[in-house]
Parts: sequence; structure tokens; C-alpha cells
Amino acid sequence: MLNLASLCFPDQEKSCFYCCPPIRDPEADPLDNIAEKRRLLRTNRKELQNNLADPHEISGNECWGLGFLDDQEKQAGCLLHPLRHQGRDLRNLTGYQFKCAHALCREAQVFTDLSQTEQKFCLALCRGMDSFHYSSRTNPLMRLLAWEKEMLKIIIRDNLESEFTKQPNNNSSNQLQRITNFTEKYEFLWKKLDFRLDGFPALLIAERKGLNFLRDNLDDYIQLRDDLISDLKQNSNLTATSDTHLIPTHKLKIPLNLSRLLKFGADLWELPPGCEREVLQHIENKLTTFLP
Ligand code: SF4
Ligand code: SF4
Repeated sequence: MLNLASLCFPDQEKSCFYCCPPIRDPEADPLDNIAEKRRLLRTNRKELQNNLADPHEISGNECWGLGFLDDQEKQAGCLLHPLRHQGRDLRNLTGYQFKCAHALCREAQVFTDLSQTEQKFCLALCRGMDSFHYSSRTNPLMRLLAWEKEMLKIIIRDNLESEFTKQPNNNSSNQLQRITNFTEKYEFLWKKLDFRLDGFPALLIAERKGLNFLRDNLDDYIQLRDDLISDLKQNSNLTATSDTHLIPTHKLKIPLNLSRLLKFGADLWELPPGCEREVLQHIENKLTTFLP
């Protein structure tokens, strides 16, 4: 739990509030309409006692319990959390206590599986951000975490000695420039690729040939990925027939990023049990045409 807290609350300068409220529009981002959001977080902090005296159920758009946690308006989070009320959980006043208490994003789960050194590297990428930019899913760290632990470990291993991971010194503009350079080096992962489609095949290539190889051969890789998806869609051993017993794809014994490729790429949301070997062999065969 300690590690999880560090992605949600990395330091005294910022926090993440992306998952509030848990019933919000999944496309909504903390950077949308930032001035209005700042005003709301300020008002909610100021009006907390009045709201507690007359609580109401929240809507998907906003929660009256979400506010700035400090007078300097640095961290934003839940004003109703038990840690702020001597153990009393006031989130039930919003009508969604269960959802609030169990909200845990995939990024936080991935982050908690990293070593302390790797976590430190990740958080160094967010130096200088405020809570709005930190919480946003356009934050490069959140984008990298979406690629899952194995890909992140490769990236960190390749950059562990980067200057920006060291403590900030007087020349912090240099540090920020180095973070920008790092982000530009890896932004192809979200500008050209999609972790849901590419998480598995791109990882196999990165593990065998490195991420520079993937970046240098990006157009060919994208063609390969599209061909692979098309083949999977047409594979008659995988596609449904009326007399085939099928199970949800996420229940197969395959990595999460492969089940995402099958679902979001090939539109295979259900598959025959025991088809793992066939799928993996198919991908291996395709990769041999790409890897020298
Ligand atoms: S979105 Fe994730 S990182 Fe942000 S507060 Fe929620 S669980 Fe923590
Ligand atoms: S009650 Fe707290 S945790 Fe739940 S949505 Fe509101 S601010 Fe977020």
C-alpha cells in the first residue's frame, strides 16, 4: 500500500485526482477546463462544512468532496477520506463510497510492481508538474505506465543513468530540458502506437532487439501489426462458430497486453478455450518475418 500511495501522492507539491469521481465520463481529463476545475476545488474546500451539513448524491461530472487539500492549493484529493476525519469515512455521503474506496487505476497497479529505483525514475519525469498536469492522462508517466511493467522496465534500464533522475540543482532548467528530450524520444509510443494494440508485439520486439530498433523501423512494424490483426481476425480456428464453446478472451492464460490486442485489435472478445498456443505461434511466425 505504501508504494501505491506514492503514485497517488508522490510528494508535497502535487497529487493525482484523476479517478474522482469514479462514475465520471471516462474520456474526461483533469486538464479539461482547468480554470473552472481550479475554482471548483477551491470552493469545495471552503464550503466543506456547509456541504457536510447538507450532503447530496454526486453526479458523474463532479464531486463536492473533491477539493484542494492544503491552503497553498498544491495537492487535490478527497476531503471526505477517513484519514482526514479521525478514521470516519464520510464518502458514503456522496452515495458512492464503495466505488470511491475501490478505485484503483491500472497505472497505480503497474507502478506498485516496480522497484524503488524504478519508481524514483518514474517520479523524476514529473518534476515541476502541478496536480492538474500530474493527474492528466497526457502526463508522459501515466502514458508510459499504460504500457505495463515489462516495457517500462526496458525503458528505465536504458535510461537509468539519465541526468534528470538526479536531484535538481541550481540549473533546473537543464533538468527540465532533459525530461523533455526523454519524452520526445519515447512519445512515438503514444503518438504513433497504441498500448492496447501494440503492447504485446512491440514488447516482444523491444525485448529481442531493443526499443531503438522498434523506433527505427516503425512504419514496417505498424504494417506488420496491421497484418497480424487482419490474420487473427480471419483465423478460422479462432473465430466463433455456432457449435464452438467460447470463453471471454481475458480468461485465457495469456498476458493482459495480448488479450488487449485480441479484443481491441482483432475484435475477438471470446475465444475457444485452449487456443493460447495457436495464438502465440501465429504471432511468433509473423515476427520471424520482421526480425533479422
Ligand atoms: S487515478 Fe490512479 S494514481 Fe490517480 S489517484 Fe486514482 S488510483 Fe491513484
Ligand atoms: S467522495 Fe472522495 S473519493 Fe469519492 S469521488 Fe468524491 S472526492 Fe473522490
